[in-house]
Amino acid sequence: MDVLQTDVVIVGAGGAGLRAAIAVAEADPALSVTLISKVYPMRSHTVAAEGGAAGVIKENDSLENHFNDTIGGSDWLADQDAVEFFVEQAPKELTRLEHWGCPWSRDPDGRVAVRPFGGMKIERTWFAADKSGFHILHTLFQTSMKYPSIKRLDEYYTTDLLLEDGRAVGVLSHEMRSGKPVVVLGKAVILCTGGAGRVFPFTTNGAIKTGDGMAMAYRAGVPLQDMEFVQYHPTGLPGTGILISEAARGEGGILVNKDGYRYLQDYGMGPADPWPRKKAMELGPRDRLSQSFWQEQQKGRTIQSKWGDVVHLDLRHLGEKKINERLPFIRDLAKSYVGVDVVTAPIPVRPVIHYTMGGIASDITAGTPLPGLFCAGETACVSINGANRLGSNSLAELLVFGKVAGEAAARLARSVPAPSEASALAQAKAHRARAEALVDGSRGTEAVATIRRDMMATMESGCGIYRTQEGLEQTCTTLRDLRRRYRDVKISDRSWVFNTDLTQALELGAMLEIAETMALSALLRTESRGAHQRLDHPQRDDAGFLTHSMAWRQGDEPPRIDYKPVTITKSQPAARVYGGAAS
Ligand SMILES: Cc1cc2nc3c(=O)[nH]c(=O)nc-3n(C[C@H](O)[C@H](O)[C@H](O)COP(=O)(O)OP(=O)(O)OC[C@H]3O[C@@H](n4cnc5c(N)ncnc54)[C@H](O)[C@@H]3O)c2cc1C
Repeated sequence: MDVLQTDVVIVGAGGAGLRAAIAVAEADPALSVTLISKVYPMRSHTVAAEGGAAGVIKENDSLENHFNDTIGGSDWLADQDAVEFFVEQAPKELTRLEHWGCPWSRDPDGRVAVRPFGGMKIERTWFAADKSGFHILHTLFQTSMKYPSIKRLDEYYTTDLLLEDGRAVGVLSHEMRSGKPVVVLGKAVILCTGGAGRVFPFTTNGAIKTGDGMAMAYRAGVPLQDMEFVQYHPTGLPGTGILISEAARGEGGILVNKDGYRYLQDYGMGPADPWPRKKAMELGPRDRLSQSFWQEQQKGRTIQSKWGDVVHLDLRHLGEKKINERLPFIRDLAKSYVGVDVVTAPIPVRPVIHYTMGGIASDITAGTPLPGLFCAGETACVSINGANRLGSNSLAELLVFGKVAGEAAARLARSVPAPSEASALAQAKAHRARAEALVDGSRGTEAVATIRRDMMATMESGCGIYRTQEGLEQTCTTLRDLRRRYRDVKISDRSWVFNTDLTQALELGAMLEIAETMALSALLRTESRGAHQRLDHPQRDDAGFLTHSMAWRQGDEPPRIDYKPVTITKSQPAARVYGGAAS
């Protein structure tokens, strides 16, 4: 097996991974970085982000405002020290991107423009039309190429973390083109592998978002934090799940039910209000808007379409000029995928799985409970998002904590010796046996597609927008059974060359473990907070649950869940107020 020694190993070349790699290179050009990605970097999910990235820049805004919006949005589950640091660093990172060439949209006077976003009571989202993620990722990718110390392994699939004396010292990957394994050893490892929306059937997430890094860390003994909090975005296209960015509402789009009525005013979102918005209406937070859709559906006030129940997102009043300037991609998407020209007709939309608030337990230093292991981006739970992420905080988060992770890994790499090859190789061989058994086909009867379909179905039925004890128990039981069946999984491709069968089988293994942490954490959280809503426990319970859940792997048994206090610095839990009434 080939062994590659490097200083810092980074898995994931999306926004977080590229930002981390640049930070290592800037901290010390003498440190070698190996950046591993299962897809070419520009295909990482960051490229799909549309709406923009939050950071305080205008005179009418303040760090305090951004802090308060984020904490309220998180339903007080975010760690406040991390949020304070985040809001302070975000504008610096967005300005740095400007200097690296990111073409932010401008105001007529030439200054950077910002747009309103959900749950943000003042407009503070920087954007590049409605292709912000594309431009951010492109800027990071180009910048990373300036540094000869960053070596990339594109289209290498990573399966496992390697440990030595209780430290992370590298990973096992294989080149997808040939199936050839390679052990990449480093003095520090950073996981930037993105979210896990693909455990659900209907999602905005690209097919690669299967939570591999979360599962790798979990299998290596690192807890997964706050996994019950999974975000539904209120406006996905029915049928495909393709996202219609919150930018569409930020620019003034409205949501109406089958009677043409702006129903959000019935759910504590208040009537429309001029800036600064005290009454949020369409710019309420995502959890509340998605829940309102469900309520409308129960009342029979959604619209029946050939794709099932939808509501209408109406942009017609914005006019063609503004739509073409600010939302050209939205116009394209609606035309291509539901045959609607937004200039002349409303878009059918419905809630869709979008973001995993939970992830690898991490902190303000991007460190994890496993020495030598750092993480950043959607795979990490720092936690600045708590029970509900605000739109446009994620792109800013991956920049801020990508940099922190890179700098922390660089510091560590300068102070510890290179790991030994012998013990890493022995572990790698044991891990590799899993992939070999799948490819040689000597055993197995269960099809990947069937188990995956059943996993997605049970997650949607038991772990959706509203949850109950009975539904969650059923989902936990089904997932137990699916994990058992997965041990007998088989694939049909017997070659090692671009074996996508193998990739999907490995991804499914990761997703099953993650799904189980989501469902069990949700079952045990007998309260409603942010994106986790229990019909049988409708109130938030600060006395019992102002805590992060931590899921620890227990081999083939269900995870053990324990709890960690939330860090509160200056904002005591209060009611979340968006519209006329507190709710
Ligand atoms: C459609 C859409 C629109 C969005 N719009 C916005 C927005 O406007 N504003 C905002 O703030 N947020 C937005 N988000 C959320 C945000 O884009 C993501 O949370 C963020 O981009 C994630 O970045 P990341 O670097 O953590 O991971 P990703 O960009 O997902 O990158 C993950 C990387 O890990 C690699 N990887 C994963 N597993 C493996 C493995 N086993 N082996 C090797 N490599 C691996 C992948 O190849 C990839 O390079 C949006 C999300 C979606 C889906």
